[in-house]
Amino acid sequence: MMDLTFATCSEVGRAVRDRKVSAVEVTRHFLKRIGELDPKIGAFTTVNSRAEAQAADVDARLARGEAVGPLAGVPIAIKDLLCTKGLRTTASSKILANFIPPYSATVVRRLEEAGAICIGKTSLDEFGMGSSNENSAFGSVKNPWNPEYVPGGSSGGSAASVAARMALASIGTDTGGSIRQPSSFCGLFGIKPTYGRVSRYGIIAFASSLDQAGPMALSTEDAALILEVISGRCERDSTSADVSVPQFSQQISDQVKGLRIGLPKQYFAEKMDADVERVTRESIEALKKRGAILVDVELPLVKYAVPVYYLVATSEASSNLARYDGMRFGHRSKNATKGDLDDLYSSSRGEGFGPEVKRRIMLGTYALSSGYYDAYYQKASQVRRLIRDEFTRAFTQCDVILSPVCTSPAFKIGERINDPLAMYLNDIFTTSTNLAGLPGMSVPAGFSKEGLPIGVQLMAPHFEESRLFNVSSVLEKDLGAAKSRRPHVI
Ligand code: GLN
Repeated sequence: MMDLTFATCSEVGRAVRDRKVSAVEVTRHFLKRIGELDPKIGAFTTVNSRAEAQAADVDARLARGEAVGPLAGVPIAIKDLLCTKGLRTTASSKILANFIPPYSATVVRRLEEAGAICIGKTSLDEFGMGSSNENSAFGSVKNPWNPEYVPGGSSGGSAASVAARMALASIGTDTGGSIRQPSSFCGLFGIKPTYGRVSRYGIIAFASSLDQAGPMALSTEDAALILEVISGRCERDSTSADVSVPQFSQQISDQVKGLRIGLPKQYFAEKMDADVERVTRESIEALKKRGAILVDVELPLVKYAVPVYYLVATSEASSNLARYDGMRFGHRSKNATKGDLDDLYSSSRGEGFGPEVKRRIMLGTYALSSGYYDAYYQKASQVRRLIRDEFTRAFTQCDVILSPVCTSPAFKIGERINDPLAMYLNDIFTTSTNLAGLPGMSVPAGFSKEGLPIGVQLMAPHFEESRLFNVSSVLEKDLGAAKSRRPHVI
């Protein structure tokens, strides 16, 4: 019997297809772990009570000799921002605390078609707004590497669930860093795909021009395998790209000889934690040893990425979140006593949204208001275009760009929650790829003195995710950071 806790998705998928282990056994194993560990971690908002039945269905299909996909019986945790048919979907918000979607997101549907088992829904910063998971209406999530620390955010529950081996992989979403930063904080391989690579249908919208879903996994191969399953054109999302999807997991090559790695001067000039700097340098050295060529690149405008992101993202959020009005779905206040519609709207929204969501709705409404639109939203959109152009230029000089994911490893729960600006600045290295629509990946690269994981970020031109997997695979083998230590809880 294989050690399921430390297996990868590809290993488990293969074992289930070869009928060495049943999907039901795998599912029971992980449900048991959730039962034992999650009271200490708080990664899940809802455990899927039908998980075992879904697994039994996969086993039945195998028994009948039907083809079952590459993720047969693989337990995957889904960020609670993706709709799951018949299974509560909350966005970690009180306003959707009882929402049961009548349909599943395309990402979820594709995973299930490939045989995966949605084991449960994971906690996040409300509507994806935050970097620490402390903005969840259901309480903070603890980092499995050290429970005094945050797991990162906004996909913190997705990261913690995999780091604690309560699932073999998870799905996160990334609007400004929410897959990459928690992956870095929890020692995972997390990729934000090119904008348009993955359908946004059924994903609760935060900022529609920036949002993308992607895998958070325990190996390069798993991240690649899940990405190829969830990618591709979807008729229900007009922004999903009609671009062919490579068999990412089959094409991983450790050939980085001659590959040009761009090091953006501006990123390295930022004040950063000494351990982050050391780990980043070690990653660069490892690639150099394999024959990669290092080139300095200029991205002078990335210093505006955080302010531009917080104008674009809040503007889009203020518009997207207008639908939560207590009328069609979600929380409806019982305290609206004046009998008029405005009172019902404001009471429902006032009770349903948390403080960070309210702050963003106000910021975005202001940035879009007449008289300020030109100065804020429009200006931000123009600078966004220039940032994108700057990356296009940089990618004429290099094939992949490497930088830190974050200026520090995970920070302590409570340390930054009362300082929104410090929290926003945490996104300094990640937001630019969302603004430019580029793919970005966090790869485990080392540890801090305190034993917390640190990731390194890789970026590539549009639809060149394969390059990220190649470089990731080299770092995975040569640095060994994903294998060398175990989280505190296991
Ligand atoms: N931390 C960023 C924010 O708070 C990014 C969030 C995300 O990518 N969903 O907006």
